[in-house]
Amino acid sequence: MPASGTPPTAPNLTVITHAVTIRLPWAAATRAGRKTTENRGRPVPDRDLGTTVAVHAGATWSRDGARDGRIQQWWWGPNSDLYAELSAPDFSNYFRNVIAVATIAGQHEANQAHPYDTCCWPWGDRTYRRPDQPAIHIEWANIVPIEPVGPIAGNLSVPWKLTPGDAEAVTGRYHEAISQS
Ligand SMILES: [Zn+2]
Repeated sequence: MPASGTPPTAPNLTVITHAVTIRLPWAAATRAGRKTTENRGRPVPDRDLGTTVAVHAGATWSRDGARDGRIQQWWWGPNSDLYAELSAPDFSNYFRNVIAVATIAGQHEANQAHPYDTCCWPWGDRTYRRPDQPAIHIEWANIVPIEPVGPIAGNLSVPWKLTPGDAEAVTGRYHEAISQS
């Protein structure tokens, strides 16, 4: 008989232990598989590259995201005449929830060769918060949307460690999503 607690997990299935918090609506565009580049001010530790992590939606709404042309084109559709600011209540079941799982496939500093453009169009930003601060482009791969798990408090670290209970719940939803696809 097992000691207690954790049910056995098939050895070939990835267990999700860490998360990255992203503010909405950016996080929703990541969940949708649309936004495959995450812009940050500092690199992810080398040991976390190649790992598969939870995508956690933050507690607060990004007004910059809601007004971003790339986000509006994703949300309203490429042929829509309507490009308007997104509305936070449309994402009310996502705030503070894990909403997807994805692999941190790689990272690099945004190309600074051109004064306006950079790599990873359209989602890669050239700079992060300050004009003299190059953005780090974190590359997502294998994005799998899951049924939301939460509420869970977020963290600024990239990535941060889920509690054992939250890790188990996220891993379960992840395996459900994979088996249904
Ligand atoms: Zn890039």
